Amino acid sequence: MTCNAEGVIAAMRSVAQVVEAHRDELVTLDREIGDGDHGENLKRGFTAVLSKLDNAGDTPGAVLKIVASTLISTVGGAAGPLYGTGFLRAAAKLGTAETLTPESVADALQAALDGVVARGKAEVGDKTMVDALTPAVAAARETSGSIADVLKAAADAADKGAQDTVPLVARKGRASYLGERSAGHMDPGARSTALLLRAFADAAS
Ligand code: ADP
Ligand code: MG
Ligand code: MG
Repeated sequence: MTCNAEGVIAAMRSVAQVVEAHRDELVTLDREIGDGDHGENLKRGFTAVLSKLDNAGDTPGAVLKIVASTLISTVGGAAGPLYGTGFLRAAAKLGTAETLTPESVADALQAALDGVVARGKAEVGDKTMVDALTPAVAAARETSGSIADVLKAAADAADKGAQDTVPLVARKGRASYLGERSAGHMDPGARSTALLLRAFADAAS
């Protein structure tokens, strides 16, 4: 991927495709331990993002800022403000830089995680998207190499983090209303975080 605004726009188009392709899977996961809308919420949000990507900005940060505000105004539920905050913090971290570097990508992921945690107050083990994003950030920080290498490490760690939510009892969000009955199902938000990171990694490689 070209590591400028155009590259980020192209990556966001792939993300929107992946969300669309996994809409039903995310709905099914959310039906098990929530209200069944996660896939539709994200699909609505990223479809809106798609419509704003032409000339979305001259820098990666500017593009991500538009992604953030679009998600905040269209996704709804718990995930909308959380993903919106994550993209907004990542955008702010990237500032006005014209191009991405492996280091700035890792820093942006860290900023996104910090934003999600500041907003949702979830800790690792609460069975949320934080369980996918936290190991992803750690892996990104530990990986040296290209942007594609950093994002692949993050996506691999997020996949494992999402898988590891299966036995957990939810302590945040709607799934927490189920108590012990939330165990045995993957958290939909952790799964969507892993899908987003995989889409970024694939776009970068
Ligand atoms: P809603 O639960 O309001 O219908 P969604 O279904 O779109 O919203 O999103 C649910 C996901 O949001 C959960 O699977 C979980 O990953 C995430 N989530 C919920 N509450 C929190 C929180 N406080 N912190 C982090 N993530 C959360
Ligand atoms: Mg839901
Ligand atoms: Mg809902």
